[in-house]
Amino acid sequence: RVKAKWAATRPKFPATGLALQNFDMNYGTQLGELWPSVRVSMLSEQKYGALVNNFAAPEVMRDLEMQGARDFVYIDVSSGEESGTAQEHSQGLPSSVLTSSETLEDTVRPALSPNIKCFLFPRGDISRFRPARPDSCGTLGYYLLDAASVLPVLALDVQEGHTVLDLCAAPGGKTLALLQTLAIRRLAVNDASVSRTARLRRVLQSYVPKELWTEDRVRITSFDGRKWGELERDTFDRVLVDVPCTTDRHSLLEEDNNIFKRIRTKERQKLPLLQTQLLLAGIQAARPGGDVVYSTCTLSQLQNECVVEHAVHLAQEEMGITVHVQDLGPLTRLFRDTFRFAPSIRLGELVLPHLTANFGPIYLCKLHRVS
Ligand code: SAM
Repeated sequence: RVKAKWAATRPKFPATGLALQNFDMNYGTQLGELWPSVRVSMLSEQKYGALVNNFAAPEVMRDLEMQGARDFVYIDVSSGEESGTAQEHSQGLPSSVLTSSETLEDTVRPALSPNIKCFLFPRGDISRFRPARPDSCGTLGYYLLDAASVLPVLALDVQEGHTVLDLCAAPGGKTLALLQTLAIRRLAVNDASVSRTARLRRVLQSYVPKELWTEDRVRITSFDGRKWGELERDTFDRVLVDVPCTTDRHSLLEEDNNIFKRIRTKERQKLPLLQTQLLLAGIQAARPGGDVVYSTCTLSQLQNECVVEHAVHLAQEEMGITVHVQDLGPLTRLFRDTFRFAPSIRLGELVLPHLTANFGPIYLCKLHRVS
């Protein structure tokens, strides 16, 4: 009998298999009866959203509509009008998000950063977007990303004239979403990895005209984000801390750069510490009265709620900084027809992948710095 030849090229214990074992053990307990459906969704093809680039020619929205997609952020089902700003739409909640006993007065409409538009194919429709084409100036019309990763940016609620820090920014999907608000006075974009920062620059070059990201408006750095609190504290109106994590979907599907490789065990075990340090630096960098959003793309409680709890405790005890966790219920109620949110989260919100809405996992938690 001829022995299978693949042994030399295929690892004995593929990292993807180790990830699945780990998730079955941990998420089976954490999510209980929800885990089988989340598991099969994460092993299936993910669904993308098209983040509209306001710096490209406006025809892009028509192009996306022609493909059969709709903006999930400001869709106005009652009038069928084209998407508008948050202010225009604050009068008109999509009727589909209200239960029969609810009225508009019963629901608190969250403040949403205007101008962010993200198109999706309908629930259950697994069509793929065509790759974005450059307009006559060479600017790409949309950026494909996990639509749930727009939620941390929406939760940040950037307003006119704000200064914003994006602490772990590469490859730049959320940076691009932040810039779509057209409201930021000064944006600090950082990522510890020099090569990934270079990739982020290439993304910005393809989507944002150079004159709009001059040094005085957009500063790109490659510092260790953990040190940011020592460099520039009490400064920013808004801080996004989108930390490195076990990137659960990637870990299940790709051997390349997989954090479940045996050789990376220590790095993986240290993630919650790194995440806590990054969140603490983000809290320090925010001004009193400012807001911080912490986000990950893992289901892990240890990397999500536990990190937030630990950082809030340490901020108070070791830095004398009081932060309050904000209720994101109004935001999730608004988008509950688009995403499946985990039903019982202690702190923050978690988008659970589902076969008919295969986004996430994305965890987000918003903190308000009081002092
Ligand atoms: N926000 C990005 C986006 O939306 O495209 C994704 C960020 S990714 C989840 C996490 C990033 O954190 C990686 O690019 C990684 O290089 C960066 N990172 C890891 N350790 C860091 C540190 N100590 N300081 C700053 N960035 C770090």
